[in-house]
Amino acid sequence: MNKRITVEKKVLSENDRLAAEIRRKLSEKRILALNLVSSPGSGKTSLLEKTLKALNSELNMALIAGDVQTENDADRLKKAGGKIVRPIVTGGACHLDAKMITGVLEELDLDEVDILFIENVGNLVCPSSYDLGEDMKVVLISTTEGDDKPLKYPSMFRRSSVLVINKTDLLGLSDFDIEQVKNNARMINADLIVIELSCLKETGLETWYEWLRERTAAKKGR
Ligand code: MG
Ligand code: ZN
Repeated sequence: MNKRITVEKKVLSENDRLAAEIRRKLSEKRILALNLVSSPGSGKTSLLEKTLKALNSELNMALIAGDVQTENDADRLKKAGGKIVRPIVTGGACHLDAKMITGVLEELDLDEVDILFIENVGNLVCPSSYDLGEDMKVVLISTTEGDDKPLKYPSMFRRSSVLVINKTDLLGLSDFDIEQVKNNARMINADLIVIELSCLKETGLETWYEWLRERTAAKKGR
């Protein structure tokens, strides 16, 4: 086997071991963990800002915001009312890995937390290979992107449980075909839950909130 493949395999199996550790720890505390993935600019931070504003009084949320550079997103989430917010600046790495999450979780008091949101680095490629110990991946796509993204990045769509289509207020202004994107996504993953919304115009968000409420309750066994 070539050396590079061997090293990569070793890295991923160590990552899987740490991710299983995280999953066990979060499950013990009955915390729902969601790993948000998308291209840069699809609206992960915006969706989390809206979610904080709407559900802060109802659910205790912890948020980890990953970026290659800057803590801008973490600052936005704090401003939006996030009480437990931690940035991860990867300094070059184009994805988060389980070791980074382990480091952050060690510093946090998770006893009262209901949901942990992990905003991954904007990238549809390698975040799909790095398990972070989440319950589910939520993949976002916005209407300013190509509707063939699920076909171009199948592994990400296959490994996600929810597809959020953001910026629906811009439908009709480009050749983005929302039915086409849904068909493409379901061809890759027939079980994908699809939620259409606009963070900017605040439409469709209630469906997302309701899904979060249901999943949180299920995780708590209520
Ligand atoms: Mg962001
Ligand atoms: Zn990467």
